[in-house]
Amino acid sequence: MKIRVRFAPSPTGLFHVGSARTTLFNYLHAKKRGGEFILRIEDTDKERSKPEYEENIFESLDWLGLEFDEGPIKEGSYGPYRQSERGEIYEKYIKKLFESGKAYPCFCSEDDLEREREAQLDRGEAPKYSEKCRKIDHEEDLKKIKNGEDFILRLMIEKGKEISFEDKIRGRVSFQSDGIGDFPISKGFERPFYNTACAIDDFEMRITDVIRGEDHISNTPKQILIQDALGFDRPNYAHLPLILAPDKSKMSKRFGAVAVSDYKKMGFLPESLTNFLALLGWSPGDDREFFSLGELEKEFSIERCKKSGAVFNKEKLEYINGLHIKNIDLQRLTNLCIPYLISESLIIPSHGEEEYPPAMGARSVTVDFKTADGRSINFDTLKEIVKEHQDRMTLLSQIADLSSYFFNRIEVDFDLLQWKEMNSEELKDVIDKAINIISNIDKWTKEEVTERLLQEANQYEGRGRFLWPIRAALTGEKASVGPFEVAWILGREEALKRLKQAKKSL
Ligand code: GLU
Repeated sequence: MKIRVRFAPSPTGLFHVGSARTTLFNYLHAKKRGGEFILRIEDTDKERSKPEYEENIFESLDWLGLEFDEGPIKEGSYGPYRQSERGEIYEKYIKKLFESGKAYPCFCSEDDLEREREAQLDRGEAPKYSEKCRKIDHEEDLKKIKNGEDFILRLMIEKGKEISFEDKIRGRVSFQSDGIGDFPISKGFERPFYNTACAIDDFEMRITDVIRGEDHISNTPKQILIQDALGFDRPNYAHLPLILAPDKSKMSKRFGAVAVSDYKKMGFLPESLTNFLALLGWSPGDDREFFSLGELEKEFSIERCKKSGAVFNKEKLEYINGLHIKNIDLQRLTNLCIPYLISESLIIPSHGEEEYPPAMGARSVTVDFKTADGRSINFDTLKEIVKEHQDRMTLLSQIADLSSYFFNRIEVDFDLLQWKEMNSEELKDVIDKAINIISNIDKWTKEEVTERLLQEANQYEGRGRFLWPIRAALTGEKASVGPFEVAWILGREEALKRLKQAKKSL
């Protein structure tokens, strides 16, 4: 049988890393087994569900590269894929439960139920419905319903029964029916509660494997009872461990429990996030840590998921991001870094649009830019700048701080320029030499610039005597890319300008 998994988010907030991990595990399980991955939007909470949150789910999945086979905006044979559009399907099954006598209407008011609950708690009992309305006979039920009395439907639960299932991660899990009681399945016939809609959808959508967070374990026996009452097949279950903060407490905003779209803004690559999230609960069985999504698709197995809580370690995420940044294509990396340079006002696209890359159909594909200090700079030069930092970044956003001196006016002073005990005459002499060399380089290539400056540096006892003041004069920084690369990337004109400015400061 073809594996069919579903991911079922509620669009009541931004798409969270916890949801992303559940989605990823579903996706990987389907990919590994040649199955299908279905997106179902659980938007029955009308007040809290918002179209912008649904949009955020689509955008986040798209960014992460977790393409679904069926879902809203990609209809398949088992739609619609939004619960809000499946009212008729639910009503059919809910009525069936009532007509077959497996569910009964409860006319108790919310206040009555609350009072009952409190009394039970006061007596030190676990709260459970008293089954008052179970005793009303069917004819009476029909009369009350006909008279328009409000009701919820409750599933009639057999006493003393064990409900158990084999969880692929946790092994056998059992519950006692007495602890569950006659639980509500819908408001009237039209409005199913979560467990009802979920059980019906999983059946109707031919879901074979339900993979979700551990927080849903207590819902599983209820869903199983509904499936049994309706004669549905039972899917396989796998409940993923909770994601915990480093101190083993529940994840909170402070510990990285934020939206996937925020991780994107912070400068993470999607492949870093999928790599990191895969390791939150799954292990390859050895100590490998670096995985592309394609590798995960081949290697993943639900049987190798752990049941103990998975600790979210943001430093590790950054470390993994650094590994992926080193590994990606330079053209793509440059395109991803450019928005950070723009947002820090270090460069401005000369096509004049705020957005980068320019929207499809914008005037030119190869965009030119102006630097903060008014020079022109093209994409290829930006690519060289990014290349120089590719091995140092653990976040894309770091490009702005690391490379700002390429785009901005810089300031230098004696203290910065000085190497060891050199005095200002010696420093001036070094800078003059560099000015002379740079002015006379015939072919402005990286090799030529490197070779000529290096030749001169080799004349000194300790190359630093020549190279430190030059590098400092070109960058205004204590730490930067090496002097040859900076000189070459800045270009002859700008390099000379900066050297002359440094000389003046001495
Ligand atoms: N809509 C539920 C949630 O967002 C998921 C339910 C499920 O996976 O069964 O937590």
